[in-house]
Amino acid sequence: MNDLLPEQASHWQWFEGTARELLAQYGYKEIRTPILEKTELFARSIGEVTDIVEKEMYTFEDRNGESLTLRPENTASCVRAAIEHGFLHNRTARLWYIGPMFRHERPQKGRYRQFHQLGAEVFGIAGPEADAELILMTARFFERLGLTDIQLELNSLGTPSSRAAHREQLVRYLQAHEPDLDDDSRRRLNTNPLRVLDSKNPALQSLIAAAPKLSDYLDEESQTHFTALRGILDRAGLHYALNHRLVRGLDYYTKTVFEWTTDQLGAQGTVCGGGRYDGLVAQIGGATTPGVGFSMGIERLVELLQVNEIAPPERTPEVYLIAAGDGTQPAAMALSEQLRDHCPGLRMSLDIGDGGFRAKLRRADRSGATYALILGADELNAETMIIKPLRESSDQVAVPWAELGAALNERRKAE
Ligand code: ATP
Ligand code: MG
Repeated sequence: MNDLLPEQASHWQWFEGTARELLAQYGYKEIRTPILEKTELFARSIGEVTDIVEKEMYTFEDRNGESLTLRPENTASCVRAAIEHGFLHNRTARLWYIGPMFRHERPQKGRYRQFHQLGAEVFGIAGPEADAELILMTARFFERLGLTDIQLELNSLGTPSSRAAHREQLVRYLQAHEPDLDDDSRRRLNTNPLRVLDSKNPALQSLIAAAPKLSDYLDEESQTHFTALRGILDRAGLHYALNHRLVRGLDYYTKTVFEWTTDQLGAQGTVCGGGRYDGLVAQIGGATTPGVGFSMGIERLVELLQVNEIAPPERTPEVYLIAAGDGTQPAAMALSEQLRDHCPGLRMSLDIGDGGFRAKLRRADRSGATYALILGADELNAETMIIKPLRESSDQVAVPWAELGAALNERRKAE
């Protein structure tokens, strides 16, 4: 679990601000759910035999003996909240969320025990347009951040009945090759055979490549959905790679699954994952409602920004205000408040603290501000303030207090 230090915060804020703006432009509304949920919510939705539920959840009993879990992901909570507050009845909902998630994994680069996700969910739309909208929106998001080296991988897991047909053949195939499997895969063979296809073990790759493919078992409904989705993405000019082995780690997916990956982050190269989950709402106790969503890992994306040396737009102060001399500080503070009234959006830092005039001026310069505003004892007497340009050689001027706001605004306009 990490501290987020002030020097990293500007990247996070820029990431979040860009996301907020984009999500609003697509008509998504934010939802904030509790970080704690009843354990059974995750066991029921994510799946009993997934890595998350088997070994990664932070679970404890509260004082009433109720089993609670720090959320490992947020889709289940969104579904629970949507059911609880009844906003799915004959309606569609476009939601987004941001916040910390918790998984007891082996910590390594790009993999933490408290990490942050930004995600979106669409409820109530069965057609591939919702899948497409989410995918196109993430593509636009990466583009706005200036991230170009992220690839989309796409697959369809089909309807539950397609999956059942495939599963039967897959289990038969894996059983025939059981001696060649590793321990993990042998265990999954009986619990969650689809996940064997997901194994990263190099020794299993040829065996996996020859395994029955889900794509050969898709029923007509699944095929129609997938073809239509691909048609929309093609028409929008979005490139993707089909990956028959993309199965995702959570049980609730149906039909579309996708991941955005990059080669620039080493082993933890998946920055966003998502898919459709048409059975989940009913599984958690609501009326049957289709759903589709994605979730992205903010640590990995911020790391990717840094690897690519993409920095948020500079937010240096425009003005740095210095008070020097007896009795000047209170007057300077009152004046600074008046200036904030007069100059909408003004980025002004106040020099609060000790030091002689030279030290203050040095701080003004280091702040990156365009102007220093200086109130010394003489200025206090004359009810003026000095505007001193810090980035060009033009002369400083003394301006009466009453005209200060106008004088600053004029200069800001000229910038
Ligand atoms: P992975 O294959 O990397 O374990 P996952 O399939 O478990 O990912 P999801 O549950 O789909 O991941 O979560 C969506 C995204 O959240 C991931 O693509 C990744 O960017 C991020 N993420 C998941 N687990 C972690 C973690 N422990 N630390 C940092 N980011 C994570
Ligand atoms: Mg994982």
